[in-house]
Amino acid sequence: MSSLKGKTIIVTGAANGIGLAEANLLAQSGANVVFTDVDEANGISAAKAWGTQGMFIRHDVSSSADWERVVAAAITRFGRLDGLINNAGIYRPGSLEETSEENFDSQVAINQKGTFFGMKYTAAEMKKTGGGSIVNTSSICGIRGFRGCIAYNGTKWAIRGLTKTAAVELGEHGIRVNAILPGFVDTKILAANSPEMNQQAAKDSVLNRLGSPQDIALLARYLVSDESSFVTGSDFLADGGYTL
Ligand code: NAD
Repeated sequence: MSSLKGKTIIVTGAANGIGLAEANLLAQSGANVVFTDVDEANGISAAKAWGTQGMFIRHDVSSSADWERVVAAAITRFGRLDGLINNAGIYRPGSLEETSEENFDSQVAINQKGTFFGMKYTAAEMKKTGGGSIVNTSSICGIRGFRGCIAYNGTKWAIRGLTKTAAVELGEHGIRVNAILPGFVDTKILAANSPEMNQQAAKDSVLNRLGSPQDIALLARYLVSDESSFVTGSDFLADGGYTL
């Protein structure tokens, strides 16, 4: 991945799970990585491991003021911005009947509005240097219905729509925008499901296992790098064949 050497990439939700694996893999591939998260303790130690190549910024993705601060700090430290992985997300299950307005709004604010803000604030900077790559994080919950997580599902469908329209608008500026759609991946987010549900999901996958954060990081690295130079506006399922 020589195309990543010296590039600067922001990864949101980089203190844990998939985002942590993505940020580590990008740093290992030579990129300067801005780890952002609301979890300061894990975020600081994760970024510290990469010395001058890594930096941590406390960042609530649902706040436009935080986004302005993060982009400005990334430019001050590394001088340019080449990529963004919009990974931060929350999962608060609930059926149509059960889901409160507060539950619905919290998932829209972080998953959907956070993705919108990320594209808006980083694209403005990438335009200045002639391009870049944005990777948004949808889910298998963004291609079908699932009983019991109506608000989360709505946000993950929305992320695919945001991705396609941003890809159309940003292509002329050399900015590519794609979405990854993970299946069941073994992170702490799955604690919101019953253990039986997660075990069944592994069995229902053609590959007979849950995904690992690294499975998803490898796909995200491909999309953020120049290896995917003719790829934009696309959805990338990484679900071990769960939805087949
Ligand atoms: P995780 O809970 O391990 O990590 C999510 C990270 O996001 C945490 O570090 C958390 O602190 C951070 N975060 C939460 N709210 C935030 C906010 N307001 N601002 C900034 N950071 C915030 O979960 P994960 O499984 O690694 O999930 C990462 C992404 O992948 C999410 O968007 C999730 O919806 C998506 N996804 C996960 C799975 C799965 O099975 N694990 C499947 C499909 C999609």
